[in-house]
Amino acid sequence: MRTVIIASNNAHKADEIANALDLEEWRFLTLRQAGVDSDPAEDADTFLGNARIKAYAAQAAARNVEGLGKVAVLADDSGLEVDALHGAPGVFSARYAGQDGDDAANNAKLLEELASTADAERTARFVCTLVFLDEEGVETVARGTIEGRIGREPRGTEGFGYDPLFLPDAYEGARTLAEVDQQTKSAISHRGDALRALKELLSA
Ligand code: IMP
Repeated sequence: MRTVIIASNNAHKADEIANALDLEEWRFLTLRQAGVDSDPAEDADTFLGNARIKAYAAQAAARNVEGLGKVAVLADDSGLEVDALHGAPGVFSARYAGQDGDDAANNAKLLEELASTADAERTARFVCTLVFLDEEGVETVARGTIEGRIGREPRGTEGFGYDPLFLPDAYEGARTLAEVDQQTKSAISHRGDALRALKELLSA
């Protein structure tokens, strides 16, 4: 059995990753489940940079946990890029309105920033970058994106973050990502794509 530590304490994210990768003989643990204490400042200016910070910090911290042995780690970093805002909120997506993880405030700020932007100019994408480090520190990187537009008002109650404002091109503007269930979202999402790409790289 191979142990992979997901460099996050978000159990929901860990579940999603374990389900998507679904590799035999692998077990996935969150930092907390593995007893690893790691919370580095995510101060890089790219998703890849921040995913690397999280992955390397988690692997270094795991070495200090007695009895854990050499483990692989997987980190992800993601966010929203809006073309009319020159790529913002980007790496600041989680704290766009100031407070980390305040989804309602972030969505309100985004609507305000785009108030005078015409529908055709409201193009955007979610990006997800994954960094996997094997037990010896060898790095594999995978990336996924989903293209769409920012709506004029929040719609739907599923998902998280900017999902209620995000109208995927794949749905031709008819539904936001917060109006579909997790499995339907994963089939087209940036994280789903990145995980499928990573699975292929790791299985090769
Ligand atoms: P992190 O990768 O967990 O740091 O997430 C960064 C931020 O990007 C989240 O807090 C959300 O605001 C946004 N984000 C990333 N992925 C998604 C998604 O799938 N739906 C909606 N918002 C997302």
